[in-house]
Amino acid sequence: MTDHDDDDDHDHGHGHGHHGHGHHHGIDDPAHPHNAPLTDVQLRVRALESLLTEKGLVDPAALDALIDTYETKVGPRNGALVVARAWTDPAFKQRLLADATATLADLGFLGRQGEDMVVVENTASVHHLVVCTLCSCYPWPVLGLPPVWYKSAPYRARAVIDPRGVLRELGVELPDDIEVRVWDSTAELRYLVLPRRPEGTEGMTEEELAALVTRDAMIGTGVL
Ligand code: FE
Repeated sequence: MTDHDDDDDHDHGHGHGHHGHGHHHGIDDPAHPHNAPLTDVQLRVRALESLLTEKGLVDPAALDALIDTYETKVGPRNGALVVARAWTDPAFKQRLLADATATLADLGFLGRQGEDMVVVENTASVHHLVVCTLCSCYPWPVLGLPPVWYKSAPYRARAVIDPRGVLRELGVELPDDIEVRVWDSTAELRYLVLPRRPEGTEGMTEEELAALVTRDAMIGTGVL
């Protein structure tokens, strides 16, 4: 059920405390989307960070490094394990595609921003791309913190209008015969892309396969 009944307070209702850190992916300047008003939580976080930095209690570079770790390493590892398992275990994959929420919960990947999950599978004919056009809904339990560009106004707007253009800018050239489907995350539903398993990986273990899976491939902004 996705009746969108809370769209009005969509961008205030589920905590967006993290702000402009991390690396850039070449879509304008996602670290400073000045056209978007800051939420109360964002303002408080900024005020706290400024104060702590001023007092010499935290080093902004260390904070950046910490956040980058959660954005790109710790967080997405969970999703990568799920993808590798789906590649190697057909019954698991079937369950995952049929009922992602329950299947992920069985693995312990549940909770905040992962309450209602859908997994969409890339195939030879379809490529899935995930966005949150309203704010930054993102499946935290499997992917960790959303990257800065995911929350940027240009990505949010253009992913829907011109998904192929966005993908091209991110270095992903899709053949014309591949259909691109864009999924708009909401407070109710979060999406995880099951990327295609790279060729030549037949003999690999689940762990080796998981190491190949990137965060961007699970958002649909990357391929493997
Ligand atoms: Fe959102």
